[in-house]
Amino acid sequence: MATPIGNLADITLRALVIMTRADRLYCEDTRQSLKLLQRFGIEQRLDNYHEHNAERERPRILKALAAGKIIALISDAGTPLISDPGYKLVRAAVDEGHAVHAIPGPSAVLAGLVESGLPTDAFHFAGFLPPKGGTRKNRIAELAAIPGTIVLFEAPTRLGDCLADLAEILGDRPAVVARELTKLNETCHRGSLAELAAWAASAPVRGECVILIGPGRAEAVDDAAIEQELKKALEAGSVRDAAAAVAERLGVPRRRVYDLAIGLNEKRRSGDG
Ligand code: SAM
Repeated sequence: MATPIGNLADITLRALVIMTRADRLYCEDTRQSLKLLQRFGIEQRLDNYHEHNAERERPRILKALAAGKIIALISDAGTPLISDPGYKLVRAAVDEGHAVHAIPGPSAVLAGLVESGLPTDAFHFAGFLPPKGGTRKNRIAELAAIPGTIVLFEAPTRLGDCLADLAEILGDRPAVVARELTKLNETCHRGSLAELAAWAASAPVRGECVILIGPGRAEAVDDAAIEQELKKALEAGSVRDAAAAVAERLGVPRRRVYDLAIGLNEKRRSGDG
């Protein structure tokens, strides 16, 4: 069940009802979630479910579910399971045949994406990058090939180093640092990765941040990547429509994609594709 990422007015009516009615309400940090409950006058016992007790607690939760109890899970802020605990619990509940329902609401991923002004038709959420330089650079190199906008979480203390590595490996891509989303001091810094790395190096950045990186320049997208996208798009539509959709998604000139689409289509027709 999602909870606000800063602005408490973002709680949903459904979340309030479920928090009140659940037989058990699990959270990451009881002190943190107690503030939320108190703000809305909800009297409900809170139990911990976090990375240090999950292995022990999960069988108990599954037993309660088997006994017909309604169990709700929240995290400190935003949507559980999204760089927060819960995936293994949901997996186990699904495996045991229990009904699982999302109670949607705020998440920094979509809030950041929506206000970034970067393409939203295809995006890849990669969570937190590894904290150490070498492993982080390897991971960024893997992300380089992904078409569409990339969304990352990062701690403010690592923001500068992370942006510097992103600029070094991904080059001159448009990017955004969305800070303190939904809060009073919310800001959105836009620029190239290099500009944002310089900005973060110039003064300490405080508060919670999402980094969003727009698709690379057209030249950075090779023909193989375009053809891979085209094959999927051609299943669903005409050469013209497929070329238009892929050109838009990858930020590549429509003429170039159209020519590749014609070639692919001819291969398909001759049974060679
Ligand atoms: N599950 C949460 C969600 O759905 O938003 C995310 C939890 S993750 C542990 C916390 C990270 O989310 C922060 O380090 C930051 O990168 C991002 N974040 C959370 N709240 C934010 C906010 N108000 N503004 C910007 N980023 C935020």
